[in-house]
Amino acid sequence: MKVVVVSGGVISGLGKGITTSSLGRLLKARGIAVTILKIDPYLNVDAGTMNPYQHGEVFVLDDGTEADLDLGNYERFLGQSLVGTHNLTTGKIYRAVIEKERRGDYLGNTVQIIPHVTGEIKRSIRDVAQASGAEVVLVEVGGTVGDIESMPFLEALRELSYELGEGHMAFVHTTLVPVVGPVGEAKTKPTQHSVRELRAIGIRPTMIVARGPAPLSPDIKAKISLFCDVPPEAVISVPDQPLIYEVPLVLEAQGVGTHLTRLLGLPEREPDYGRWKTFLETYRRGGPSIEVAVVGKYTELRDAYLSHTEAFHHCQGTLGCTIHLQWYDSEDLPRNPAALARLNRSDAMLVPGGFGSRGVDGKLLAIEIARTKNIPYLGVCYGFQMAAIEFARNVLKLPEANTTEVEPHTHDPVVCLLEEQKATDRMGGTMRLGAQRVALTPGSKVAGIYDRNEIWERHRHRYEINPSYIERFEAAGLKVTGRSVDDRVEVLELSEHPFFLGVQYHPEFLSRPEAAHPLYRAMVVAALERKEVASSVAAAPARA
Ligand code: GLN
Repeated sequence: MKVVVVSGGVISGLGKGITTSSLGRLLKARGIAVTILKIDPYLNVDAGTMNPYQHGEVFVLDDGTEADLDLGNYERFLGQSLVGTHNLTTGKIYRAVIEKERRGDYLGNTVQIIPHVTGEIKRSIRDVAQASGAEVVLVEVGGTVGDIESMPFLEALRELSYELGEGHMAFVHTTLVPVVGPVGEAKTKPTQHSVRELRAIGIRPTMIVARGPAPLSPDIKAKISLFCDVPPEAVISVPDQPLIYEVPLVLEAQGVGTHLTRLLGLPEREPDYGRWKTFLETYRRGGPSIEVAVVGKYTELRDAYLSHTEAFHHCQGTLGCTIHLQWYDSEDLPRNPAALARLNRSDAMLVPGGFGSRGVDGKLLAIEIARTKNIPYLGVCYGFQMAAIEFARNVLKLPEANTTEVEPHTHDPVVCLLEEQKATDRMGGTMRLGAQRVALTPGSKVAGIYDRNEIWERHRHRYEINPSYIERFEAAGLKVTGRSVDDRVEVLELSEHPFFLGVQYHPEFLSRPEAAHPLYRAMVVAALERKEVASSVAAAPARA
């Protein structure tokens, strides 16, 4: 078992997740079996109960785990699906320790952070290594070195490195090298301090990844090397990139692959990035451009919709077009004529998932525009439920149609609570979660897009389309073309529209750079076609 730990210094939000994912990709390109595990030192058991405004998107895994968004980056960079044991939190560790204590497993001993909590952490890491069969486990430690919360985790990793012995573990420390002053001087002091902090707890970094706006000069690298006791070739500069998928190649260009494999005694092979490089070239080249409207209530914090943004990047790098995402705050939209005018000119529209009543009117308004103006539309989860409500109100003429999430006593509950949810009063991990099988109607648009009649997609919801309205929807042209094994409505598509699809599940979680999700791809293609037709009409000479 070999372990690469990625810690962070100075500030959080340095892109440790991208660094970790990129290191994983770099090893994978050398034919080494890798996996990644994230440590989140907060006390929440999982990210499911956390506000997207504080922590960004909640990423859902196949097994239904509601995980930190970095798990999404790992899956996208590695092209591998992960399971819930790959996201450790203080909440999970303490829960396990306390359960053991209550069972009497500690045989009367005093239960302490060291060795019991650290022991539980080490056991969890070893279990992931074993279950995944990976030769190298990358462990990203969330937060910043020096935080009280991360101490037990770093201590456990220190112990693990001692137990595994020389040459089995590498410590990559990610820090900020700020550029300050009128002449733009790169400052190494914060890095020196954070490395000192790491050393104080018995960890000596083997590699420093310096983040900052610009590449580090050779003397700054030399200075960091001298002060922090790492060889100059192990000081890596990762300046901000226009696209995160460039980072593995930025690391590669500085010899990280060779350095890391030597450190860990792994075979030195030529890396093979396969389609990764083609993806990057296509992305950089771009092509005909489209503007995609994203209408949601968390638009202030883009991380809240991270997987959607990435799915569009994957389309750009696959289809060779340029995609501009235009964000609309659904709460502000109804009273913002300029935004509405622009929205009307969008080439495509996405309404992502969401919860609660805030911003619902704006979403309904946007969907009406997409439906009536033939703008390609993709509704995901709440965006799918909203599409059903908009249709019920404006086409079926049921003005009170609503979801019981917004209006519990509505006359027309076209979206209602899932039966099994009625017995639940706990919030954590209780939604309909994870990968579920969906049967698509043969011959439907959606089946054509996937090119199959059965799919597995990830879910996260409490409400569903009320079956008693299906007949009326279908009679008016909104067809149910996907159903779960237990007959819930999973897909709705409008027959009289070039591209109008709603899905109860979250396709964004399965899009990968080397395999853009079929639904996003199809929507972008529909937008490109519509734009091409529109511009050729505009370019045609006026008839005499
Ligand atoms: N709030 C809706 C539900 O719980 C949609 C959830 C979502 O968009 N993830 O069913």
